Amino acid sequence: MPIVNRVADLHKDITAWRRDLHAHPELLYDVHRTAASVADKLKAFGCDEVVTGIGRTGVVGVIKGRKPGSDVIGMRADMDALPILEANDLPYKSTVPGKMHACGHDGHTAMLLGAARYLTETRNFAGTAVVIFQPAEEGGAGGKAMVDDGMMDRFGIQQVYGMHNHPGMAIGSFGIKSGPTMAAADHIVIEIEGKGAHAARPHASVDTVLVGAQLVNQLQSIVSRNVDPLESAVVSICVFQAGSTDNVIPQTALLRGTARTLKPQVQDMVQKRMGEIVEGVARLYGATATLKYNRGYPVLNNHEREAGFAASVAGEIAGADKIDTTIPPVMGAEDFSFMLNERPGAFIFIGNGDSAGLHHPAYNFNDDVIPYGTSYWVKLVETAQPA
Ligand SMILES: [Zn+2]
Ligand SMILES: [Zn+2]
Repeated sequence: MPIVNRVADLHKDITAWRRDLHAHPELLYDVHRTAASVADKLKAFGCDEVVTGIGRTGVVGVIKGRKPGSDVIGMRADMDALPILEANDLPYKSTVPGKMHACGHDGHTAMLLGAARYLTETRNFAGTAVVIFQPAEEGGAGGKAMVDDGMMDRFGIQQVYGMHNHPGMAIGSFGIKSGPTMAAADHIVIEIEGKGAHAARPHASVDTVLVGAQLVNQLQSIVSRNVDPLESAVVSICVFQAGSTDNVIPQTALLRGTARTLKPQVQDMVQKRMGEIVEGVARLYGATATLKYNRGYPVLNNHEREAGFAASVAGEIAGADKIDTTIPPVMGAEDFSFMLNERPGAFIFIGNGDSAGLHHPAYNFNDDVIPYGTSYWVKLVETAQPA
C-alpha cells in the first residue's frame, strides 16, 4: 500500500502550510504565531479538543475515531526554528533576518497538521489520536516542558511517536531501529583560576592558558583511553576563552563544550573521568579549576515493540526495501527522548533527499517528503487501532 490517496490530494495544501511556516520562523518558546496557526487549523479541521499553552507554547489536538476503542496514540512534531541567516533564495524564504527553519521543523509541523486534517475527516480508526506540537526542541527542552505540564496523563497517552527528516537519505525511505538512537547531550563548563602576570615574567604566574591547553588535550584521552572502543562517546571542547592582549598572562580561562554518549554507564564514566582530569591537571600546574557538568537531553531510546511496529507501517507506505532498520545511532540529540522516557514509542527518520545538512544556512525541507510523512502518521493511527 503506497501513499494514501486522500493524503496525495492534500499535498498542495500541506505544502502551502509548510511554506508559510518557513517564511515566518520563530525561536524556542517564542513560537506564538506558529502555535496560533496550528491551533486555528486544528479547530477548523474539527478536532474534538484543542488545547494551547501546554509546556508554555505547545499545542495539543485530540481526534476520536468513529470505531469503539480505548487506545490513545500520541504523535509529536516540533515547531521551532534556529538563529541562522537563511542563504536560500526562495519565494517563501525567511522574512525574519537571522532566523530560519534550518532543521525542517516547518515540514514536521505541516506533515502532522496534514495527518490531523485527514484523521478528523475520515476517523477510520478506533480509540483516540493525539497530535502534539511542541516548542523549543532546539536546546530549550520543550518536550520536557510539555511532559512536566502533565500532558501524558491529561490526554491519557499510552504510546508516543516522533519523526525527523534526514538529509542524505533518499526521499520515500525511512530509517528506524530499536534501542539507543540519538545521544545524551551534556554541557561542560570549566573555569580555570591561576595567577596573572607580565608575559615576560612567567615564573611569577600560574599560566591558565597552559593549563587550558593541557586540559583540551587530556580530556580527549577519555574517549581514546577510558571508553571501551566498542562503545560510543564524544568529547568536544568548543570554546576556549582567555586573555585580552599579547603581553599579559591571564588570571583566568574558560573552556566550554559538550559530551555525547549512548549509555548511562558510559555517561557516568565520562563525567567522573572529566572531574578527575580537571582537578588533577589544575593541581599539576598549581592552578584551581572547577567543572560544571550539566546533563542535557537524555539518550533517545526507541522501544523494541513500537520500533518494530513503526518500521512495519513505514514499510507499507514506502515498501519494505526502503526501510533501513540497521541505521546507526547518531550523536546528535533530540528532546523527544523525554517523551520516550514516559511512554513506549519510537522515533523514525524520513529521507529528505540530497539536501544541505540540518542547521546549514542552505538547508530546506523537501516538500516531496510530505506524502510519505503524512501517510505514515495516518497509517500509524489506523493500524495501531483497528476496529
Ligand atoms: Zn535541529
Ligand atoms: Zn530538528
